[in-house]
Amino acid sequence: MKNFSYVRAMSVKEAVQQASIPQSMFIAGGTNLVDRMKVFLDEPSQLIDITRLDMTRIEQTKDGLRLGALVSNTAVADHPEVRRSYPMLARAILLGASQQIRNVATTGGNLLQRTRCPYYYDTAFDCNKREPGSGCAALTGINRIHALFGASDQCVAVHPSDMCVPLAALDAIVEVEGPKGKRQIPFTDFHRLPGNTPQRDTNLEPGELITALILPPAPFAKTSVYLKLRDRASYAFALVSVAAAVELADNRIKTARLAMGGMAHKPWRFTEAETFLIGKAANTETFQQAAEIALKGAKPLEYNGFKVELAKRAIRHALTVSAKGGGIA
Ligand code: SF4
Repeated sequence: MKNFSYVRAMSVKEAVQQASIPQSMFIAGGTNLVDRMKVFLDEPSQLIDITRLDMTRIEQTKDGLRLGALVSNTAVADHPEVRRSYPMLARAILLGASQQIRNVATTGGNLLQRTRCPYYYDTAFDCNKREPGSGCAALTGINRIHALFGASDQCVAVHPSDMCVPLAALDAIVEVEGPKGKRQIPFTDFHRLPGNTPQRDTNLEPGELITALILPPAPFAKTSVYLKLRDRASYAFALVSVAAAVELADNRIKTARLAMGGMAHKPWRFTEAETFLIGKAANTETFQQAAEIALKGAKPLEYNGFKVELAKRAIRHALTVSAKGGGIA
């Protein structure tokens, strides 16, 4: 491991100032960053410890429920208001990682974890995300966990987070602070598609620090569900996952939200399927049609074609459970 310096920031301002030193990185839970450092994927010149910053509260604000960036994943999933008003978020967190990891992993860090494409972590293979211009081993390799949407000829990786999928469905807001001050980023604009710059996962500017997430009021989300399908029942990333919410009025769908994980380089929102659902009867036929609309633009690779049908069935099931009042899908 390359030598690096360590500094503990005592304020957001100090953390941002320290980040002006080239190749500095923030560290909080470190559950992905330390793994990457161990295999030389990240070689920071300086780690800025942000764990003492005042970003550990969950509070109700006029804009919605505000989650400080340092709130642990466990604390978010256990919070009564998250469980009551945003159950798909609580469920998504509980289906990710392990209890020990969730206890130290933070809200902000969850957004910044990097893909689990095996070729990214194995330096014996070419990877444009690790080394721009070197090639993409997954394009011609075993690409069963890779993207159906939004990929490029530079990178076909998928975003790994469970938590981020409901955040996309909920239209969460990301609060950040950097050298140019504070700003808010709509969640669906926070992560990037690979394009010609697969080394960039997010639209954060250099030196910007995530300070909080805001969950806007979402009456439709009370019966929301999160369904995760994976190769084994625990401690595995999603092949496909669905965050779904259906709100009914007079037996018709009044509001619908649909986002998926395991689909793309960012949590993938299906707005066309959501629009289709409005005003329809909540039944299997409607949900199957929504699933067909959602997956019609899928572009499978050599080994991941099975995910198209898997995703359709997952959508149909998740929407059905939500329409019946929610719970575990
Ligand atoms: Fe690297 Fe992306 Fe290709 Fe995986 S899919 S090998 S992360 S460039």
